[in-house]
Amino acid sequence: MHLPAPERYDSMTYRRCGASGLDLPAIALGLWQNFGDEDPYATQLDIVRRAVDLGITHIDLANNYGPPPGAAEASFGRMLREDLAGLRDELVVSTKAGYPMWPGPYGDGGSRKYLLASLDASLRRTGLDYVDIFYSHRFDPTTPLRETLGALRTAVESGRALYAGISSYSAERTLEALAVAEEIGLDLLVHQPSYSMLNRWVEEGDPSLLDVVGRAGMGTVVFSPLAQGMLTDKYLDGVPEGSRASRGGSLRQDFLSESNLRHVRALNEIASARGQSLAQMAVAWVLRDPRVTTALVGASSVAQLENSVAALDHLDFSEDELTRIDEHATD
Ligand code: NDP
Repeated sequence: MHLPAPERYDSMTYRRCGASGLDLPAIALGLWQNFGDEDPYATQLDIVRRAVDLGITHIDLANNYGPPPGAAEASFGRMLREDLAGLRDELVVSTKAGYPMWPGPYGDGGSRKYLLASLDASLRRTGLDYVDIFYSHRFDPTTPLRETLGALRTAVESGRALYAGISSYSAERTLEALAVAEEIGLDLLVHQPSYSMLNRWVEEGDPSLLDVVGRAGMGTVVFSPLAQGMLTDKYLDGVPEGSRASRGGSLRQDFLSESNLRHVRALNEIASARGQSLAQMAVAWVLRDPRVTTALVGASSVAQLENSVAALDHLDFSEDELTRIDEHATD
């Protein structure tokens, strides 16, 4: 059983999630990768324990995190049972459904049939009575939004989830979703889009996604703020053994093109001049916009998590730093 550090709430910053009563940590931990069956359970447990001790109250999951799909939820469920029992009310646990999960027509997309069955399966795997946030993982163009959002409303009304969210919906789809949510009496609390110095789509367009969520009073939990590891110093001299890019999965090696790496090197120098690691500056940078509630990071070791969380020691940017970053922070 883990005895949580008594000082765990002393140094984390909490930000209010949109126009709600829910505070989220400025940095949250996601279990997308590094929490599958092939990843040593002891390391997984060390990372989550350290997260708790650092005041990271928000752990992000999805039905399909693993591999295999479901493994991360099962692993986190084991931690909750064996190690973190008693801490349930100190944690905000989220999960999602929207990507392929089981065979046949009901294991993918945005139908009511899929979303509610998936949420029940997530509850079984984690052993939780309810999750704090349940997300539609992606917009499904083949299902009426009314059905997808109606399923989120049922999730909340039936007590399986406390809050509802959407992930990776464009600005336009988010506006549509907000209108439907209002019609059916659903509060959409939070949006989860990708955002980093190398991926700025949430700022683009008129209105941009950040404009839409900001005006609607939604919170924003941004994923992959380190661009899956590219916005750290780890790829500056090649691809290290065991790194995400070396595993041939979601971080394709062609992202590590010479032109991208030139930008990453320049950003690394700006970070050094600020007395920060590049990972720390990348986290601080997404948090510079008050419409961003939380930077949702991943970690394959305790040291990485500690490094990223130390971003909180220096969140401010001068105008000059932001201008210099803009020269290299391009999609
Ligand atoms: P990051 O951009 O934070 O990348 C995390 C990876 O970067 C780690 O696995 C590690 O890579 C490397 N890393 C992390 N910290 C450091 C550090 N301080 N120094 C050096 N390297 C570091 O985020 P993820 O892409 O992992 O996404 C975070 C979370 O966002 C996910 O777990 C998930 O919860 C959520 N997410 C949601 C999606 C959605 O569709 N809603 C999609 C994707 C993610 P390595 O393994 O190489 O060591």
